[in-house]
Amino acid sequence: MKDGMTANFPSHLIMQHPFAAGAAGVSAAAALALWYSVLYSGSNIVAPVIKTIHRHQAVALTFDDGPTPGFTDRVLDILQQHNAHASFFLIGSQAKQHPELVRRMIAEGHTVGNHTWDHHHHGVWHGEAYWQDQLQRTSTVLAEITGHAPALFRAPMGFKTPPQARAVRKSAMRYIAWRVRAWDTLRISPHTICRIVTAQIRPGDIVTLHDGLEPARRNCSQESTVQALPEILRILKSRGLTSLSLEQALESPVYQ
Ligand SMILES: [Zn+2]
Repeated sequence: MKDGMTANFPSHLIMQHPFAAGAAGVSAAAALALWYSVLYSGSNIVAPVIKTIHRHQAVALTFDDGPTPGFTDRVLDILQQHNAHASFFLIGSQAKQHPELVRRMIAEGHTVGNHTWDHHHHGVWHGEAYWQDQLQRTSTVLAEITGHAPALFRAPMGFKTPPQARAVRKSAMRYIAWRVRAWDTLRISPHTICRIVTAQIRPGDIVTLHDGLEPARRNCSQESTVQALPEILRILKSRGLTSLSLEQALESPVYQ
């Protein structure tokens, strides 16, 4: 399938992607329609999404699936060393276990968003009540920790469904997608992560990286992401780009 999902992706890694094999058995037209409306994070068909910021000299780095001790704290250290800000889309059950990392994000000027309670891959098959529960449990925990319920939601893997979108709308949240994805949940090197990001990135882009491990990938590591981040930030700086939190970058409130 020659489409936007694979167009910017290293060709030698395409066959490792789970959709590469699954799409083969589906007709090309149906696969493309499904991919675009539901699976493509940047699609506005199911619900409106934000995937860029209106800034000429900035980008918005975002980190998903944390907080995770051993990774998130090092990401925060690196951001601080480079005077950069970012946004973290948190798994609620992880935030409940590691509230000190969430408090540190807020104290250091980063934005916190909702990334469901447990990031379950089967969530796309569930109805509105499931998504309401996922959103509300996470927002309640984040409000207890930070004092504010988030207004920003990132769908697990970027997959949006109509029941999910209804729950997001009723929870007064907005979707945050991305224009650049680092593919850093795969087993790739820091150099490759840096190359994927810096080869694509343009002013105003929202970029997705990962400081955590979703429950289905507990045997993986975000070590490569942590090691890639300083070089990504150095290259951004050399191009005159700074990383802003979404609270800094968006004109509308990021908390309720
Ligand atoms: Zn995720």
